[in-house]
Amino acid sequence: MAAGQKIHEFVETLTPQLIAWRRDFHKYPESGWTEFRTASLAARKLMQLGFTVVMGRDAVVAEDRMGLPPAEELARHELRAVSQGGDEELIKMMHGGFTAFWADMVCGSGQGPTIAIRFDMDANDCSESTAAEHLPTAAGFVSENPVVMHACAHDGHTAIGLGVAEVIAKFKDDLNGTVRLMFQPAEEGVRGAYPMVTKGVTKGVDVVLGIHIGVSAKTLSSLVCGISGFLATTKMDVDFTGKSAHAGSHPHEGKNALMAACAAATNLHGIARHGGGDTRITVGKLIAGQGRNVVPPNARLVMETRGETTEINEFMESEALRIIKGAAEMWGCTYAVTKMGAAASAPSDPEVAAMLAETGREMGCYDTIVLDETLAGSDDFTYMLEAVQKAGGKGTYALLGSPLKAPHHNDRFDFEETVLSRGVELVSRMIWKVLG
Ligand SMILES: [Zn+2]
Repeated sequence: MAAGQKIHEFVETLTPQLIAWRRDFHKYPESGWTEFRTASLAARKLMQLGFTVVMGRDAVVAEDRMGLPPAEELARHELRAVSQGGDEELIKMMHGGFTAFWADMVCGSGQGPTIAIRFDMDANDCSESTAAEHLPTAAGFVSENPVVMHACAHDGHTAIGLGVAEVIAKFKDDLNGTVRLMFQPAEEGVRGAYPMVTKGVTKGVDVVLGIHIGVSAKTLSSLVCGISGFLATTKMDVDFTGKSAHAGSHPHEGKNALMAACAAATNLHGIARHGGGDTRITVGKLIAGQGRNVVPPNARLVMETRGETTEINEFMESEALRIIKGAAEMWGCTYAVTKMGAAASAPSDPEVAAMLAETGREMGCYDTIVLDETLAGSDDFTYMLEAVQKAGGKGTYALLGSPLKAPHHNDRFDFEETVLSRGVELVSRMIWKVLG
């Protein structure tokens, strides 16, 4: 039997399991760096299927993790994960927010290329709708966790990752090379990919794929095979520290952190535009001061930069840091910058996108196949893609079509579960194209 047909028939038998996994992850959503339950159950499954799993402190550079929640919050969510049926032994290895992992299967002789696929696992900080017409409510898998919801389909991505693992485990002797499944935490806020890359998740990878359900692909028969236009971005929190003083009798003794932050904010928005491509800068939030008659000793400025390329964003970031330093100096304050998230700009490679399009055509279920789409958002999968490209490999970012009940990050977000088996089949067939 042809490989494609064999994969199709096996994936059909997996469909009820894919839906069950998706609904289980949906019911117990976890936000960035707290994916203890999701990651522990997924990692255990991959171990059972014979994959070699790299996890815990081996899967990220600890200090490169951005936007990590405070230790007490991580501890609380770790306990919650255990109480909600997570794998206790593996959760222990993830203690402190080490929820990233990857899983390798060496297939056949192993003498072939390495293909890696990214699946993100985190949920959104959002309360889920309990309206009767919302399927998760009607079918009993609505979020059990307050103010956390899978509103971006990462529950589906994780289920697809497990489905692909089942296919590889069953037919691995047909292949030659290595399959690496990368389970990424904290995609929301673009925080989780970078520390996996610095730890080496993309080392030796020849072809890398990222997938996302929905976005601009809104019918089951649509497939977007490549993305360009993803903006590189840096998210930063800046804390200015001055000195409080009586505003009436001793203002001269104070150091005004609020003014330092304001000077920074107005000048940040005045950074010269870059001639080489699009840029963005936003100071989105400013919290400062203590009372009406006290010279403000504190200010926090929450900001981001974006650029059409990684280099252009680096220009925006370094200009921003220069202005922040100058503003602090001008007002006699000190400052500290915390990087809260970042993504690169890497565009998809047309050759890999074309290969994926051919795979989609062979499946016969897609009538709208788009080779390249321009999206001006950000996804830190681009760090993985950029690292692979810099080392001479190639990759692409694909959108799996599904009707959506409401836009992403909305309390009534939901997708058609048919996309799960289609996603598993597409990714599996693509693996066969590369390693078969
Ligand atoms: Zn997403």
